[in-house]
Amino acid sequence: MNVGKFAQAKDLEIKWGHLDTFGGTLVEDIMILRVFGYLANGKRVLYYCEKAIRKIETNEDEQFQIDVVNEKAKVGHRLTSYYAEKGEMEKALSNHHKLCLEGEVRLDYIIDICDYLKKGNHNKKIIEFIESMKRRIDAFTPKDQVYCLLQLCRCYAEDDDFLKARIISKKAFELAHHLEPDVQHSVLYSAGRIEMGLCNYKATIRHFMTATKISNRLHMEMVQPSIEADLGIALLRTKTKNPKEAFRYFAKALDAFTKAGNMKELQNTLICMANEYRKLNQLDLSLQCIERCQSLAVQSRLDVCKEAHCNALLEYAYDTTLSYSQRKLYFDKARSIVENTIDDCASATVNLTRARLYNLGGNQNEARTSLVKYVHVRLELCELNCYTCKQKVKEGTVPLMCQTCLVALYCNKKHQALSWNDDRICHKVLCPLLARLKKFKAGEPQDDQVLLDELDNFLETVFGKPMMFALQEL
Ligand SMILES: [Zn+2]
Ligand SMILES: [Zn+2]
Repeated sequence: MNVGKFAQAKDLEIKWGHLDTFGGTLVEDIMILRVFGYLANGKRVLYYCEKAIRKIETNEDEQFQIDVVNEKAKVGHRLTSYYAEKGEMEKALSNHHKLCLEGEVRLDYIIDICDYLKKGNHNKKIIEFIESMKRRIDAFTPKDQVYCLLQLCRCYAEDDDFLKARIISKKAFELAHHLEPDVQHSVLYSAGRIEMGLCNYKATIRHFMTATKISNRLHMEMVQPSIEADLGIALLRTKTKNPKEAFRYFAKALDAFTKAGNMKELQNTLICMANEYRKLNQLDLSLQCIERCQSLAVQSRLDVCKEAHCNALLEYAYDTTLSYSQRKLYFDKARSIVENTIDDCASATVNLTRARLYNLGGNQNEARTSLVKYVHVRLELCELNCYTCKQKVKEGTVPLMCQTCLVALYCNKKHQALSWNDDRICHKVLCPLLARLKKFKAGEPQDDQVLLDELDNFLETVFGKPMMFALQEL
């Protein structure tokens, strides 16, 4: 648009207000109103945009049809961001569909809307939105298409649907093949995280290693530490565990997050390291990580940090090579964390931590109650999802089912093997309890004593004897 004409229109508008004709052509008037809409705040946005739309609707001149359609899309985009900023996403999206679909759709429109939806954690809406734009997106340049596909991958992965994410990731992979290294890097990182979600750790490591080579070469300091932290986790999950190399990556990530002042990721990495050190029985190092983490006091991660802290303390408290008074000290600290701060009853792991604590303290009733709650949460999670990777079992397929409990489902033999012996609470130890509580839930008559015995057996074999017994035995 002619800059002089716009300035003239602006002067007129300031002087007279409420004008909708500025003496030019219809298209020019629409453009001017639309720019006013872009520059305005609050309700004035609506005022100008609606005026522009009314004008758009009066156009009958075929000659201007393309210009008008593009103006309509631009006005639509302004209205979408107006409603999105106010958090009215339904209105934002319906406006977008009504006004933008015929006009030119550019990547920045899509980025804007996804960003708004991301702020509200509307992953499902982002998926719907991008899917609804599919035909338009297919006409984008390969690089822009990859951007949209990676958004989809991220949403599916965050909603734990890694199987869907993987299908889309493969498309992005093909498109990225001939593109710049930084695009390839994003695709590799995304693919690595997806394989991690599916418990394919070798593939995870392969993708991450290739990605780190690229990010090192291009000095991508912002993303490098996130990959290193994830690489550490993946290295600890493979059969040929390599703690030394894993913790070297963790340490690099910590340094980088510290330098960048990224407190949230720094805390996440510390919690992760604390848990991994605990599993490796390096309790002092585990506690060091937790202390450092707590000193950061990032509110959002505090509960997870306390849970990790509690479990590390319990590990000491169960350690029969320590003196009774030392163990009691750790136990009391753990108990005060559980009783004063952790209060997420719906979470499986919190209930398990409780069961562990009460079992050690000799409070058998509380220990059983917490354990039953834990198993119930696990039962619900098991209904439709793979026990190991948590993916929804595909409709119409006959999934692999544990024939002992008739509860645990698996994608394949590999995932079944992974869960049987992998952790302290592996399927082998949980299997009888899942079977018992499933029957109980279904209303089958149960012998209470048998359930109690099974609960007690679990508590003792998985967690060990209570501290009081240990004392008496001395
Ligand atoms: Zn699976
Ligand atoms: Zn089983």
